[in-house]
Order: sequence, then structure tokens, then C-alpha cells
Amino acid sequence: NIGKVSLEQIDPLSAKSFPLCMRQLHRALREQHHLRHGGRMQYGLFLKGIGLTLDQALQFWRAEFVKGKVDADKFDKAYAYSIRHMFGKEGKRTDYTPYSCMKVILSNPPSQGDYQGCPFRHSDPELLKQKLQSYKVSQAGILQILELVKGMHYQLACQKYFELTHNIEDAGFSLNHPNQYFAESQRLLT
Ligand code: SF4
Repeated sequence: NIGKVSLEQIDPLSAKSFPLCMRQLHRALREQHHLRHGGRMQYGLFLKGIGLTLDQALQFWRAEFVKGKVDADKFDKAYAYSIRHMFGKEGKRTDYTPYSCMKVILSNPPSQGDYQGCPFRHSDPELLKQKLQSYKVSQAGILQILELVKGMHYQLACQKYFELTHNIEDAGFSLNHPNQYFAESQRLLT
């Protein structure tokens, strides 16, 4: 699926087919024109996984960063390397794979000012509730999700969010990867 997504599609896709972790990162990037390293890795690799090419990725991140405090020159010096690195074009040329849910849930928890991580695991329940309300999840649905979160069933909570936002009874898959979430969503919607 390399090159199958255009940059213009990312905004609408983020609302329809991104899991909450990636929707949160996308929104933070659009609003702040910046993401710290952990967020760039988590989101950048996810975008690579949905099919962005290296050129598209560079264009995407550059366009957003230059709207903030970083000019094009600084972007090319300080950030472009790490994006090429993600695509295995620098350093040891490891072709990095997008993070699984377990990796997002268990490693590198967000600190103040970070947007990476799994919102079901790392967000304060009250903030999670407000976020779900703002995304028009029903009250009953929110209660179900919060119950699962309380039981530390983060991936099941995410699967419930999938079902509620796609209007289906049973997702019919067992969620373990943000890119799987995206693929399953696209399978239903396209
Ligand atoms: Fe993202 Fe996985 Fe958490 Fe869902 S369960 S928000 S896909 S990390």
C-alpha cells in the first residue's frame, strides 16, 4: 500500500479510521506544529505503515513544522534525518516497523507536553471521557469504555471505540496493532 494515501487524505482519515492514539497525535501536530521525539516516532511509523512514502513523509512533517517555530532550514538540519532514519535511509539502515499496541502501552509513557502513548492507558479517565464526548461517542458507550479501562483492558476499550465509531456490534478481530485498526476500518468504509 506504499503511496496509496495522499497528504490531503490524512485529515479526513484521522477522524474516520485512525485509532485514538494516532488521532491524538495528529491533532496535536496540527495544533502545535510540533511533536517531540516519542510522538514523532509513534506517529511517523504509523503513517509509514498506512502507506506514506519517504518523500510524502518529509513533505508532511516539513509543512507542519514550518508553520510553527521551525524554519525549513532548521527542519532539514534537525528533523529530516530522523524521518529518513525511520524509513531505513540513514544510520544502520534498519527498516523500522510501526509500534504495536503492547509497545505503545508498555514503553515510553508520555510526560507533560507529550502526546504519544495509548490514551486508554495513559490519559486521565476524566480527560478520556471528555475526549470521547467531543468525538460524539454516546454516553452509554463512554461508560462501557471506562469500565474496560478500569479493568486495565486497554485494547478491548479501543476495540469498543472502534465498534461504536463504526456502528457495528462486534469488531470481529482482536486488536493488537494501530495499523491493524486502520486496515480494519478502511475495509469497512471503502
Ligand atoms: Fe492505539 Fe492500540 Fe491504544 Fe488503540 S489500544 S489507542 S490502537 S495503542
